Amino acid sequence: MNLLEGFQGYSKRYSISARARKYYCPICWKTVQVRVKSQIIDTKSEEAKNFDFPVFEGGAVVGKVKFVWDVFYCASCDKEITITEMREFERETKRREREEKRVGSERNERFRLLLRAAVLLISFVLVVMLVYANR
Ligand SMILES: [Zn+2]
Repeated sequence: MNLLEGFQGYSKRYSISARARKYYCPICWKTVQVRVKSQIIDTKSEEAKNFDFPVFEGGAVVGKVKFVWDVFYCASCDKEITITEMREFERETKRREREEKRVGSERNERFRLLLRAAVLLISFVLVVMLVYANR
């Protein structure tokens, strides 16, 4: 087994894609910036279990590894938001929007039925009145 000492790693898993789109802060809804974070992690340290160390064919990394990843940063909240948190927030927002749309269309449907019933009732009353008036 080959051991590679002091590997300089860039974990793509944590990297924000360069798509030209805006991300919003889950707390204040202002546009967030992308901030690059880096940390040197020793494979033997306690926090090593939170990082994905690179694996090679027939080899592993030992010693200090530099991890580089992106986070979102909201300047007005002075808070960092991880990519995982942002994905979760966006998924939740989309789910809520879908739910609101569904509830809205159901409400519209009910209103349309009520309106149709009212029109029918009024027409019926008018017809009855006309019939009686012509007698
Ligand atoms: Zn914010």
